Amino acid sequence: MEILNAFTVEVEEHFQVSAFESTISRDQWASFPSRVVANTRRLLALLDRRAVKATFFVLGWTAKRHPALVREIEAAGHEIASHGFWHRLVYDQTPDEFREDIRLGRDVLQDIVGHRVTTYRAPSFSITRRSMWAREILVEEDFEVDSSVFPVHHDRYGVPDAPLDIHCIDTPAGPLWEFPPSVARIGGLRLPVGGGYFRLYPLRWTFALLRRIHRVDRRPFMFYMHPWEVDPDQPRISVASWRSRFRHYVGLASTERKLERLLAEFRFGRVRDVMQAGTPHLRQLTAPA
Ligand SMILES: [Zn+2]
Repeated sequence: MEILNAFTVEVEEHFQVSAFESTISRDQWASFPSRVVANTRRLLALLDRRAVKATFFVLGWTAKRHPALVREIEAAGHEIASHGFWHRLVYDQTPDEFREDIRLGRDVLQDIVGHRVTTYRAPSFSITRRSMWAREILVEEDFEVDSSVFPVHHDRYGVPDAPLDIHCIDTPAGPLWEFPPSVARIGGLRLPVGGGYFRLYPLRWTFALLRRIHRVDRRPFMFYMHPWEVDPDQPRISVASWRSRFRHYVGLASTERKLERLLAEFRFGRVRDVMQAGTPHLRQLTAPA
């Protein structure tokens, strides 16, 4: 049987990403024209054509303005998960601020869908060595699964020696499952896949890395992306730094076509489906109603 992999989407506006955080303040967000609904629908159509169910980490701020979009995602059979409310990096917050943010983000979603939301991903994978305290708070706030610890070297995120596989962490408040974003190992290197890397790498290189995760490590991979990555016409934010603009705009024009081929090449499912396929003891966790 071919391995089932996780397909995940971080539902946020093109101007809410960490790359533009120093350029666009949060009180300006409401003044930007929204593009998230149309972009998410493009992704929903793409997933529907391939009959793929995915996990959508929805930013609370965005969900609050577009509750019908959240219902539309769920009605299509996808899993609703939380991406916090304000898209603040976890390590830039105090534990109390973090708790407040994940409560806000979770409650907005739960009010819309009418059931528990128990899977979380931090903005820009910002649970790092500086913010490991966040995992205990996630458990206290009713989360069961986290996907925030990127086992890689990067300037903004990452724990370079973190486990690569789905694993359970014992926090003082109880267990928390971690499904890390994927890296392929080549020699001593850990090469990330998904998001900007998917846009940057030639498709054959991404495919080779993903197959390597299956063949060498014998584990499912976690793929992630954003609705704005299938929107080559989005307005350019010119005041951001060269590096931020490169990270955000590279390869936008070809992403949708590459995604079509990715979805044809591998089997994908929701985070919960992949975890249940790979770790039988996870079945004890309460599935959303
Ligand atoms: Zn995000």
